[in-house]
Formats: sequence, C-alpha cells, structure tokens
Amino acid sequence: MDLADLYKDVLMDHYRRPRNHGRVSQPDAVGHGSNPLCGDELELGAKFDGDAIKQIRFRGRGCSLCLASASMMTEAVTGKVRAEALNISTAVQEWFTAGAVTPVPAELEPLATLSVVRGFPARRRCVLLAWEALDDALAAR
Ligand code: ZN
Repeated sequence: MDLADLYKDVLMDHYRRPRNHGRVSQPDAVGHGSNPLCGDELELGAKFDGDAIKQIRFRGRGCSLCLASASMMTEAVTGKVRAEALNISTAVQEWFTAGAVTPVPAELEPLATLSVVRGFPARRRCVLLAWEALDDALAAR
C-alpha cells in the first residue's frame, strides 16, 4: 500500500465515522460555509470555555472530502484558544493552496492526508470549506 492509498483510507474513515458530527446546544458561535460547485454546505457550532474551544461540531451535507475535512478540522482545533485555532486554519489554507513541495507543518501532520486532493483543483474548495466555516465562526465570536 503506498502513501496515497493510506491517506485515502484515513479520509474515508473520517467520512464514514465523522468526529464531532451533530449539533451543539446553545452554541457561543456559529459559522457557515457553502460550495455551490459541489453542493457542499456546512454549519459549525462552538462552545467556548473562556477563550478556548471547548466543543465544536458540524452538520450539513457535502461530499466525502468536505465531510472528512470537517471531521479532521474539529479534532485539530478542539481545546485550542481562539488565536491558536485561527493560526491552524491559516496554516492549513496556505499549505493546501501552496505548491506540492511545501512540507506539512509538523503540528498538522494528521491533516497531511488532505494532500492527496491538491492535485485536483476542482475539489480544493471541498477541503477548504470547513476551514472557511471555522474562520467564520471565530470571527463571529
Ligand atoms: Zn465537495
């Protein structure tokens, strides 16, 4: 099994068993994102404990990439303070849209699986949508 196959397995696992999927009751912040090209729509709800993201969940409909990316995003930012979460989001978006030679930032290693999609520009928005919705939620806070 080569690395690309391994990455695809991780993506499909997040798609089939999404982490933090569902609704947050009485969220402190909500964020939205939509990708008309693919029909993806996401809504995020977050609860804060002081400045830290205590809980973040997503719901909506989307393709496998969109939902897998959202699942990974929630795992990556849970427990992070607002500024850290924004930094992660910016780093992911820059890494993802940069050339294929850019190394994955060490702290984002689990997200490396998303790199299999970089060769398919039409699908990039599917991956980035969750992070855009995160930015939206953090901005609303
Ligand atoms: Zn999509």
